[in-house]
Amino acid sequence: MDIHEYQAKELLSKFGVEVLPGALAYSPEQAAYRSRELGGDAWVVKAQVHAGGRGKAGGVKFCRSDAEIQTACEAMFGQKIVTHQTGPEGKGIYRVYVEAAAQIAREVYLGFVLDRSSQRVMIVCSGEGGMEIEEISEERPDSIIRATVEPAVGLQAFQCREIAFALKLDPAVVQSFVRTLMGCYRAFRDLDSTMVEINPLVVTEEGRILALDAKMTFDDNALFRHPQVAELRDKSQEDPRECRAADRGLSYVGLDGNIGCIVNGAGLAMATMDTIKLAGGEPANFLDIGGGATPERVAKAFRLVMSDKNVQAVLVNIFAGINRCDWVAEGVVQALTENPVDIPVIVRLSGTNVEEGQKILAKSGLPIIRASTLSEAAERAVGAWKHDSTKGTKMRAAS
Ligand code: ADP
Ligand code: MG
Repeated sequence: MDIHEYQAKELLSKFGVEVLPGALAYSPEQAAYRSRELGGDAWVVKAQVHAGGRGKAGGVKFCRSDAEIQTACEAMFGQKIVTHQTGPEGKGIYRVYVEAAAQIAREVYLGFVLDRSSQRVMIVCSGEGGMEIEEISEERPDSIIRATVEPAVGLQAFQCREIAFALKLDPAVVQSFVRTLMGCYRAFRDLDSTMVEINPLVVTEEGRILALDAKMTFDDNALFRHPQVAELRDKSQEDPRECRAADRGLSYVGLDGNIGCIVNGAGLAMATMDTIKLAGGEPANFLDIGGGATPERVAKAFRLVMSDKNVQAVLVNIFAGINRCDWVAEGVVQALTENPVDIPVIVRLSGTNVEEGQKILAKSGLPIIRASTLSEAAERAVGAWKHDSTKGTKMRAAS
C-alpha cells in the first residue's frame, strides 16, 4: 500500500526525520487559509497523489501570496495529473499540501528498499537529488552509493557517516544526516515498510537536513498489525476494481483485456491467463478466489469481474483440492440467477465433488458453457467471445 507525501512526512517525523511545517487542504480557499496559519512569505503547494514526478507535471508550485496559492490550487483540484509513474490515465488531485518554502543548498537522493538478492534492507543514495532514481541509474550510475543493513545489529552510525562522506556532505551536517538515515531505517523496519524514498533530501542554506519529499510503501500482508498505517489508505488513488476486490478479501489485479477470469490459486490463475493468450484472447484480470471458497465468495468474485465494463466473456477455472466444485457451481449459479448476463460464461471444474458441481450447473438451466480441460475452456472462452463480439451491445450486471 502506498501513502501520500504528507502522511509519510508525518510518520517519518515521529522517527526523528526533520521536515518543514506544512498543512493539508481540500480546497483552494482552505489552502490559502493554511498558508496564513503557517506564516512566512513563501510556500510550495504540492498535489497529493500516489506518484512521483509531480514537479515536472505541474503538481508542485512555488507561491508568494494568497492569490498565487488560489491560482495554483485551482489548476490542481479535480484535475488528473499524469506523470511517468501514474500511467496514461493519471491520478486525481483531491488534496494539496501547503508547505513552507525551503532555501535549498543541495539535493540528494535517499532510498530504502528490500534487496532480494542479499535479503537485506538496502540504502541507496546519490548526489543527484531531484532526478528520479530510474534516470540516475541510467545517466549517472557511478553516482549511486549502496549500503546493506545487517539485520542482527540494524543500521550502524558508521555506515551513515560513510555515506555522508561519499556524498561529500559538509561535516557540519553529518550528524543530522546520520539521525535522518537512522530515523528512516527505524520507520522502515518498525512499520513493515517495503520502500522509503526521500527525493530530494536537502541541505538548506542554514545547514539543516530536511526531507523535502517522502514516499513510503507498506507490506499489505503486515498492515493488520499497523492500524495507524492501514487507516492512511486513500482509495481515490487506487484502481477502483482492485479496491473493491481488496475490500472483499479477494486477490485481484485488473488488466486490459476482455476475458474475465475466476480461478483458485495464483499459479493456476497465471496458467489460465497464459492459456487465454495462447488461444488468441486477452485476460481482463487476475483473480484468485483462494482455498475453501464458499458459494457466497464465488458469487462475490463473479460480480466483481462483471463490474469491469471491458469484460465480454467469463472463464471460471477451478481445480478443487481444498475447494469444492459443488460450492463453486452454486456460487456461479447464485450470481447468474441474481444478475443475469448475456455474455458467454465458460466453466471448467475439476477435482473435489466435480460430479455434484456439474449436476448443479446442468440443473440450473443457465446457458453455461462447460469444458473439461483448461485448454478447451480457454479456446471456448475466446471462441465464444469472438463469436459474440460481432452481435453488438451486451447486457451488464451491476456489481
Ligand atoms: P516530485 O518528486 O513528485 O516531483 P517533490 O516533492 O520532489 O515532488 O518536488 C519537486 C521539486 O520541487 C523538488 O526537487 C524541490 O526542488 C522542489 N520543492 C519541493 N518542495 C519544496 C519546498 N517545500 N521548498 C522548496 N522547494 C521545494
Ligand atoms: Mg520527489
